[in-house]
Amino acid sequence: MDLVLSNGNKMPALGLGTVAIDKFKTNKDSVKTSILTALEVGYRHIDTATLYKNEVQIGEAIASSGIKREDLFITTKVWNTDQGYENTIEACKRSLDRLKLSYVDLYLIHWPLDDELYIKTYEALERLYSDGLAKSIGLSNFYKKHLDKILSMASIAPVVNQIEINPYFVQEEIVRYCKSKNIVVTAWSPLGSGSWSGIDTEIKPVSDPVIKKIADKYGKTPAQVIIRWLLSRGLATIPKSEKEHRIKENFQVLDFDLDEDDNSKINALDRGKPFASSAYNNGFSF
Ligand code: NDP
Repeated sequence: MDLVLSNGNKMPALGLGTVAIDKFKTNKDSVKTSILTALEVGYRHIDTATLYKNEVQIGEAIASSGIKREDLFITTKVWNTDQGYENTIEACKRSLDRLKLSYVDLYLIHWPLDDELYIKTYEALERLYSDGLAKSIGLSNFYKKHLDKILSMASIAPVVNQIEINPYFVQEEIVRYCKSKNIVVTAWSPLGSGSWSGIDTEIKPVSDPVIKKIADKYGKTPAQVIIRWLLSRGLATIPKSEKEHRIKENFQVLDFDLDEDDNSKINALDRGKPFASSAYNNGFSF
């Protein structure tokens, strides 16, 4: 299932998230194995970031997969310490070297820092787009205030905003705002986050009793129900797994649909505040 971005490029709505595979032990083969498994299962959209320190392994997996470059959709992101005009250009080139690619499909500003800095960073993204090093450019963790600043200066529109969305942080308002500006929203931490957050699995949305009950009704798993709910909202999402059976499970979500009542029950789980990203406020730092 592809989503058409405002520049006409297509992005598979469902991708593989890759943060903290094997708890960031990127010296082992775990990242490469996870990516190759996902590509075999049928994923064509892979989400990474300089921060995740796995671009080299992802590049190796892509190179050895035998899949044509144009059939893949690879996203990476400029990290905070690389922001600014020249720094961002260089950071993107280093990411491309690590990924062994001549372009990325989507290059994002990972987090908005101060206004002046992310505007300079966005100008660099426009240059990368014009030079063909990024086929699409966009944002991550940008809210209305930041989006308005970018939209007022951009000569090349951002096509994606990647933000935390899961049943505990439904984010209707910003989703509606992005849609009104032709920006596709990608949901990160759809299942409630990976090991990086330090949050116990038992309290994540993927363990929620309401979701479990809905899953039982459809003969699906809680993760499949959450992913289906996100896709039905017209969002993209990038669940992460490094386990073969879950990589497969998370991809098998198009053979059922949730009825209106069940979608409403999931929407009602909203707590109206960040769930996974609350870990950032609990002393977590990259
Ligand atoms: P997710 O919400 O995707 O959850 C991942 C966790 O759920 C892992 O612990 C995984 O374990 C487990 N899991 C995966 N599939 C299932 C399943 N079917 N049933 C039960 N548990 C499952 O968390 P992430 O935080 O990783 O978010 C997804 C992606 O979003 C990231 O990997 C990254 O690419 C991106 N992201 C972007 C951010 C940004 O600022 N732009 C911030 C955070 C994430 P296991 O691997 O053992 O299966």
